[in-house]
Amino acid sequence: METFDLSRYRNIVFFTGAGMSAESGVPTYRGKGGIWGSYSIEEYACQQAFDRNPEKVLGFHEKRRRSVLDCEPHEGHRVIARMPDARVVTQNIDGMHQRAGSQEVIELHGSLWRLRCDNCGHNKEDLGRSYEARRCACGSWLRPDIIWFGDMLDPLVMSRAAEAIGNCDLFISIGTSGTVWPAAGFPDLARKSGACCIEINPEPSGATRYDRVVEGAAGEVLPKLFGSC
Ligand code: NAD
Ligand code: ZN
Repeated sequence: METFDLSRYRNIVFFTGAGMSAESGVPTYRGKGGIWGSYSIEEYACQQAFDRNPEKVLGFHEKRRRSVLDCEPHEGHRVIARMPDARVVTQNIDGMHQRAGSQEVIELHGSLWRLRCDNCGHNKEDLGRSYEARRCACGSWLRPDIIWFGDMLDPLVMSRAAEAIGNCDLFISIGTSGTVWPAAGFPDLARKSGACCIEINPEPSGATRYDRVVEGAAGEVLPKLFGSC
């Protein structure tokens, strides 16, 4: 596979989904070994579950944090991180891009590594295997700052993502099935903005809107395409 010539591009966006973390071993949501096979969304991943039993929901998210901390970013994450001007828009909440060194990551679905208080608005980073505190200084429970089922996406985060994608001239989609909206509309936005669009996926989405589709795993393809950039 030939190295991709990046010299013509000024604004590069990597758009990533669950497949980006697959080779790191981060458990998937659905499918074989997916966490929703053993844990129900209604009990662990919606606001109502948190309101009913915050300790149970926090305990589950601590478990997820530990399983992610037992995984490491792979060479594909590092190749992206070595391109300091490239922006990352991700659907993942696992923080793998940041652990690999990416500075500018727009997290559409929030992060496992932030907690927020919906009572006083406090929002804090918390990176350990266990939460430093489960309650805010104001006394309310701290809630994982991620988009749960039934939550609205943060309009500010969405507009930052749309701005980055609307202004990019190279858009590289990696490891996303393109089925979860509204993120699924981003490849079309990039195309309409005139960007060159590339998809990297061992099972490509089948959409015809890409200029180039590379059938393969992120950890193998990214170093080959962009490794020497
Ligand atoms: P998805 O599960 O719908 O699709 C995953 C895609 O990754 C598939 O198209 C698959 O063919 C591809 N893939 C599998 N292995 C790959 C590899 N090694 N390299 C490249 N691609 C590979 O995931 P989605 O489109 O991201 O949507 C599901 C939702 O669940 C999203 O919100 C997603 O981010 C979220 N989620 C997040 C995490 C995480 O934070 N790590 C994990 C699971 C799901
Ligand atoms: Zn508070």
